[in-house]
Amino acid sequence: LKDRLTQAIRDMKNATVVDESVVNECLNEITRALLRGDVPFHLVKELVNNVKKSANLNNLPSGINKRKILEESIFSELCNMLNPGKPSFTPRKGETSVVMFVGLQGTGKTTTCAKYAYYHQKKGWKPALICADTFRDGALDQLKQDAVKVEIPYYGSSTESDPTEVALEGLKRFKNENRDLIIIDTSGRHKQEVALLEEMRQLYEATKPDLVVFLIDSSIGQAAFDQARAFKQSVSVGGVIVTKFDGHAKGGGAISAVAATKCPVIFIENGEQLDKFEAFDAKAFVCRLLGKHHPAELVDRFRDSVSLDEQADLCQMFTDGENFTFKKYQAVVKHNYKMGPLLLSQVRDLQPNVQENVKPEQMKKYLIMMDSLTSEELNSSNPKIMKESRIRRIAQGSGCHVGDVMKMLEHYKQLANMCTRRKMDNMTRMISRGRM
Ligand code: GDP
Ligand code: MG
Repeated sequence: LKDRLTQAIRDMKNATVVDESVVNECLNEITRALLRGDVPFHLVKELVNNVKKSANLNNLPSGINKRKILEESIFSELCNMLNPGKPSFTPRKGETSVVMFVGLQGTGKTTTCAKYAYYHQKKGWKPALICADTFRDGALDQLKQDAVKVEIPYYGSSTESDPTEVALEGLKRFKNENRDLIIIDTSGRHKQEVALLEEMRQLYEATKPDLVVFLIDSSIGQAAFDQARAFKQSVSVGGVIVTKFDGHAKGGGAISAVAATKCPVIFIENGEQLDKFEAFDAKAFVCRLLGKHHPAELVDRFRDSVSLDEQADLCQMFTDGENFTFKKYQAVVKHNYKMGPLLLSQVRDLQPNVQENVKPEQMKKYLIMMDSLTSEELNSSNPKIMKESRIRRIAQGSGCHVGDVMKMLEHYKQLANMCTRRKMDNMTRMISRGRM
């Protein structure tokens, strides 16, 4: 889906004149891409109509950048589809909140319960887990494994077969222990059986959770719509979590689930490990869908891969862009090498002219060249210092060609230039603030 949406927008960008036929062709392409991404037809139609209406391209005075308006309109309409207009219940630290997870078997409920608990524990909550799945053999063992890993108390029964009884007993226990986030894992079946929905309704009425989270496997696409609606009719769903976003994810699943439940997506799960779990950000999600990179996502990656001390140093370097010495360049390339092509080819919005696709091997080469720089050179931020003789010396010292050194110098200049950019400052500010 991502590739096709990107292609549709790229085609539109490449067209020199944006007349009606180009706009229509773009909208058709977007329609086809969304349908292939398994977004239900009625939602796609709605999106296209909204884009036409909000972009209002026919009535724009000449000279206005129609392309940009159309692009922005597609972006914001996709965000709107993911925003039902009302926030979900958010548990508060220190108050007892009960959150119940529902969804079909295999969706990732048990895994996600533990992740949700762990996520909050790291932020200072005192979570606890209850296994109210008495249907599936081994359900309690599975929850126990994850709970033990992250040291979160859990409750379940290997003898009691009534899920409501188990849930109530667990609630009593954990409320006594002043746990402030009590999470109930429930059973699932392969289909939306009447018995399952009835079980959920009974559990819901007995435990009166503050929030029911509906889980949807991102790979199922528009089938999410009917599933979500069925659960919504039995229990008062208040939020959606999209699971397995690392696999064969289809954007249609999230969009369908929101449309059917009229609830926001609150988290997204993207891998089997317990920390593969993040708060949902509609803009970042749509960016991903459209193949763009959202600054917040980059900031997260930056923070995950660079230690706090190093972060401070790098931030300093970026804000201090006027004095971007070769030494700083060396540090930045080193970090890039470690993080993957973070600050290079992917951040097209932030740095459209930086050498594209500087591959890890290339970075490694640049780093080897940097070892041949004298300390005078390293402390300089003036590329003019690199006269021919120095370039030849560096090439010899690092076993590469003069042309390679020239390439490295070009890259240095681009990064130096980028570091003085306003957008880079914004990114740095986001990083040092800890969030955008
Ligand atoms: P439940 O039946 O709804 O409780 O689902 P489980 O939590 O037991 O998960 C079903 C399977 O999906 C397990 O094998 C999990 O390891 C796997 N799984 C859960 N979350 C993810 C995820 O984000 N990515 C991937 N690839 N697998 C996941
Ligand atoms: Mg389970």
